[in-house]
Amino acid sequence: MIVEKIYTDNAYRNFNYLIACDETGEALAIDPLESQMCLDAAKDKGWEITQVLNTHHHRDHTGGNDAVIKATGARLLAHAGAKEQIADMDVGLGAGDVVKVGRSVELEVLDTPGHTMSHVCLLAHGESPALICGDTLFNAGAGHCRGGGHPEHLYHTFAEQLAKLPDETLIYPGHDYISNNLGFTLDREPDNATALALAEQLKDQDPHDAMVTTLGLEKQINTFFRLQSPTVIARLREAIPDFPDDPAPKDVFLGLRTLRNDW
Ligand SMILES: [Zn+2]
Repeated sequence: MIVEKIYTDNAYRNFNYLIACDETGEALAIDPLESQMCLDAAKDKGWEITQVLNTHHHRDHTGGNDAVIKATGARLLAHAGAKEQIADMDVGLGAGDVVKVGRSVELEVLDTPGHTMSHVCLLAHGESPALICGDTLFNAGAGHCRGGGHPEHLYHTFAEQLAKLPDETLIYPGHDYISNNLGFTLDREPDNATALALAEQLKDQDPHDAMVTTLGLEKQINTFFRLQSPTVIARLREAIPDFPDDPAPKDVFLGLRTLRNDW
């Protein structure tokens, strides 16, 4: 499997992705907002885009569908529950479905509500597992829930699906937010030495050449995976007046999600 990560350099800092089969050259375009960039990248590589997939219905993920489909004749895949919001969907996806690209690529569909209620992530198994995660999981952060989502569902997606994937899973999110998100992690957990060192290291990072994190690293630097951290819990107690003394992981996640909205 070849993953081409395209930084769009737009105001939303989107990443678009092409996933290609190295045997046949067939490619899947994921959330190809900047359609021309995606078409040009495929042309450069000699790939044929045969499928477009949206992780969810937000316009900054679906806005390039028409142009890519018009140019390539690709079919459109997305969460079956987003049929009302995503026009001209050819294939409605659900948990456990497998998206095939060419001969060599198989991606498992995860049903991951929270950012929106009809959101899919894609999981590539194998020696180097990879997760294409849209706006559910970001590097060092989590998606907001203000565009039709729900924070409790996002918590369950994190706890019951994402946190259980192998630590070596490569993380491919829908936006480049890592520096800002590390700032929030450090605001919540100032003694997180790994996050501090990474924030320093990434100060001059060019997002065109963005670091690809692993789930194992996310568990160290992403505050939304650090629900047992004594510092995180103590500082939530300071910030939220009625925060429980002995909070459940869900309380911590929801407290962090609320604070992040205004941070
Ligand atoms: Zn979104």
